[in-house]
Amino acid sequence: MDTALQERLHLALLAQRRAFEAERMPSYEVRRDRLLRLLAMTRQYGDELAAAMAQDFGHRARQESLLADLFTVEAGARHAMKHLRRWMKPRRVATPLHFLPGRNVLMRQPLGVVGIVSPWNYPYYLAMEPAIAALAAGNRVLIKPSELTPATSELMARIVAEHFRAEEMQVITGGADVGKAFTELPFDHLFFTGSTAVGRHVAQAAARNLTPVTLELGGKSPAIVDRSCDMDLTASRLAFGKLFNAGQTCVAPDYLLVPRELVEPLSQRLMAEMGRLYPHIAGNADYTAIATPRHLARLQALVDDAARRGARVLRTHDEQPDPAQDRRLVPALLLDVPPDATVMQEEIFGPLLPVVAYDQVDEALAHVNAGDRPLALYWFGSDTSVRDHVMQQTHAGGVTVNDCLWHLGQEEQPFGGVGASGMGAYHGEWGFRTFSKEKPVFLQSRLAGTALLRPPYGATFERLLALLRRISG
Ligand code: NAD
Repeated sequence: MDTALQERLHLALLAQRRAFEAERMPSYEVRRDRLLRLLAMTRQYGDELAAAMAQDFGHRARQESLLADLFTVEAGARHAMKHLRRWMKPRRVATPLHFLPGRNVLMRQPLGVVGIVSPWNYPYYLAMEPAIAALAAGNRVLIKPSELTPATSELMARIVAEHFRAEEMQVITGGADVGKAFTELPFDHLFFTGSTAVGRHVAQAAARNLTPVTLELGGKSPAIVDRSCDMDLTASRLAFGKLFNAGQTCVAPDYLLVPRELVEPLSQRLMAEMGRLYPHIAGNADYTAIATPRHLARLQALVDDAARRGARVLRTHDEQPDPAQDRRLVPALLLDVPPDATVMQEEIFGPLLPVVAYDQVDEALAHVNAGDRPLALYWFGSDTSVRDHVMQQTHAGGVTVNDCLWHLGQEEQPFGGVGASGMGAYHGEWGFRTFSKEKPVFLQSRLAGTALLRPPYGATFERLLALLRRISG
């Protein structure tokens, strides 16, 4: 273990902890000022951030960076500022009759120093969206972004240092070794976004310090197509949801479950729709590249493995960009994929879409329920009784009905996984609560009936307990 690295990390944590201890309950004005600076930073450096993401990915559609990394952060910061005063207020909580005239209050208190570890696929959003919640809740923040987006991570370190004091918020760059040392720090809360495999290590590291942890992980998110769907609408929305950021989205539909007789017609529509969104692949400014050569090779190996095992591969375009020059990957539908193909075992995270046939909806549900609980689930159709059955009989981190991805943009709803796709949640007030201790405070009154429950025990105690049994609940 690199002791210089450990020392550097410990000093960064210590500086933030000292600063927190000097200001345990930052005022509304202080918190608002931090959010305003985050907003100003995002606006000031939006173009540079989009350029850095394009450099890191080989190519990142500028509009995708503007929408999914920059607008989302602006919207999150504005939402937090709008509601901050209300979120900070102590809550009045009902007090049972027998505790009156005492009073219950629930106060929301910052936890202290929060560690955020973020992945490469939406490098600015996934670092800053949890930071917004942590700052709003009055915490200090250390961020460890991904090493796979070095230009964006370095730029984030520079602009955060420009807009924030190191003891308010700081970005620490580095690879898995830094990530490992970082997650071993005794934070007051650790917030990790990334793969399920690394999430396991992070949970173990956090457990050693009893650091509470939020895990925003991945997995195979299914899209279930019902017989009652509008096929054109379904195809157009699925094509967009799958190919946005070239499928490198934690909530992208991973694979489709489709009534057997709709497999062919829906596949044809999907091919047409993908071709319409991206008329060509090589050099297409609207189409994002696969982030690294390693990820591109992994996706190509998934196709080869499926084809070897007898799957039908429908490529949307005839062209084949030269991977040394252009890492854009031609989208492909995979039909008749055997269940043991790797593409049906691991999260795809790219523009490949297996289409799995089912006859009865319960077969589709059994397929979903046989695997890990997914981060997202999509359902397309108009038969609300089937929809309700699917909602009740499956677990998922979140759902969009008749579209993909958009539940992620709902600031009033919690965002987070379940089971292997994660634990805990954030966005809007849910994030504020994640980074707060909700501390129950019972304000006892001078006159308190509880005094009658003290020894020496006798008839009064018995009568009072009998009364309590009658009136409580
Ligand atoms: P990853 O798990 O490889 O890396 C994430 C971060 O963890 C990086 O900063 C990395 O440096 C760090 N890290 C690596 N090894 C570590 C260790 N041993 N200890 C501590 N930190 C370590 O994930 P990735 O490839 O960057 O991202 C892709 C994954 O993230 C996918 O599975 C995707 O579904 C998931 N994801 C989830 C969400 C969500 O909101 N739930 C969002 C985006 C991505």
